[in-house]
Amino acid sequence: METDRYNAIIVGAGPAGSAAAIRLAQNDLSVALIERGERPGTKTMFGGSIYVEPTSRVIPEFWKDAPLERPLVTDEFWLLDRDSAVKVGFTGLKYKRSPYNKFSALRSKFDPWFAQQAVNEGAHLMTSTLVTDLVYEKTGLLSKKVAGVKLDSGEVIHADVVLLAEGASANLTEKAGLRGEIEKSSMFLYAKEELALPAEKIEARFNLEPDEGTNVGMIGYPTSGVAGKGGLWTNKESISLIVGGYLNQIIKKGVNPYQMISRFKAHPLVSRLIKGAETVAYKSRIIPKGGYESLPQLYDDGILVAGDAAVMISGRRGTDLAMLTGLYAADIIAQARAAEDHTSRILKGYEKKVMNSFFMKNIKKGKGGHKYQKEHPDTDYLLTKAANDAAYKFFKVGSKSSSEKMKKIRKEILDMQPVKKTVKDLYYALQDWSVF
Ligand SMILES: Cc1cc2nc3c(=O)[nH]c(=O)nc-3n(C[C@H](O)[C@H](O)[C@H](O)COP(=O)(O)OP(=O)(O)OC[C@H]3O[C@@H](n4cnc5c(N)ncnc54)[C@H](O)[C@@H]3O)c2cc1C
Repeated sequence: METDRYNAIIVGAGPAGSAAAIRLAQNDLSVALIERGERPGTKTMFGGSIYVEPTSRVIPEFWKDAPLERPLVTDEFWLLDRDSAVKVGFTGLKYKRSPYNKFSALRSKFDPWFAQQAVNEGAHLMTSTLVTDLVYEKTGLLSKKVAGVKLDSGEVIHADVVLLAEGASANLTEKAGLRGEIEKSSMFLYAKEELALPAEKIEARFNLEPDEGTNVGMIGYPTSGVAGKGGLWTNKESISLIVGGYLNQIIKKGVNPYQMISRFKAHPLVSRLIKGAETVAYKSRIIPKGGYESLPQLYDDGILVAGDAAVMISGRRGTDLAMLTGLYAADIIAQARAAEDHTSRILKGYEKKVMNSFFMKNIKKGKGGHKYQKEHPDTDYLLTKAANDAAYKFFKVGSKSSSEKMKKIRKEILDMQPVKKTVKDLYYALQDWSVF
């Protein structure tokens, strides 16, 4: 449907925007899904795991049709030091069969497919179109409500409600007064490189069958002394590598994303995994890392915010929370349509649903973690160092008794820094990896 008035306008065809558009179109609402990229997925990137739950809530058995890479059967965490790594992991072969758990994916393929599902349901997708501003209508002497958007062409499109699913930069969310300016200390800057490698080489290097994939999360060495993370995903015929950390610390250290990823690739335990691979894509991007304390206002008259723009990130999860908040927003928009009332009176139901969700419990729980990591950028580095030093001693065959060896390891850990700090470092590191 092409018109200049819709029931809903959605800004951004990422996971949040497309999930909302699918649901709204299924409910017979007229929807414009507006994307600045020439195709969805060209202006964005992720690590990347796509989770079966909640994607299958939007499209049941999506794996039969979606452009996915490999079912992820192995999850590993590496505490990576200069020439060693302490590794913890799990391989579950059940995850390679329906109903699966998660898949590696490339957003350049997944996002266009996901947005196309909205088009198939009747949504109008507009690409290469930047939304530059919001348009308001007066609802009283002193009150107004969002009534549409202005495009870079100067054209104005009207709607009963606008859903901002514009991702981490959240420019329109800020313009709407729903959030303040985003601080650099509440952002992670990530770099990603996709490296092409034949499938047989990937399978040999990661001990995989053709229908299996691996995901490795890393701390320590990859981030060049900045509090942050590295990661690796196996795709069908490529490997995705990411590295990043707090933007303010990256600036302070004077490193740039390209230097960080080059250093990461050169690590002796990483370089052997990507040997002979050719870089096919390089991107950098920010994600909101401010957690609970930096949540914006989620609604106002005629407007809602979902996904990264609403700071819906918890541990390693982002696309799923984007989809869920997109679905919640779509359900409230449908209710508002039925009640013929698109003001905060109805739309506040969205905030209630988000605040009562399981993921908000996790986001709330991580409250102290962001502050702690900001104040103690050395946390991951110290934990990594301690774990690797201890492992070196533990596995070294020598002529000391086991109890003497353990005593020495214990002493070195106790001497490293106050025990209370080590316990706190460990607590927040585990929390950041969503262990509890
Ligand atoms: C390095 C990295 C690794 C990650 N790994 C994972 C992972 O493995 N699993 C996971 O679940 N999450 C991961 N995430 C997080 C995940 O990518 C995000 O949480 C998710 O993409 C948020 O979806 P969204 O729809 O809210 O925003 P986005 O995916 O950012 O989509 C927003 C869209 O809006 C468009 N847009 C923005 N402004 C405008 C405008 N004014 N007009 C028109 N269009 C506009 C953009 O071009 C974009 O397409 C990762 C993120 C990064 C950076």
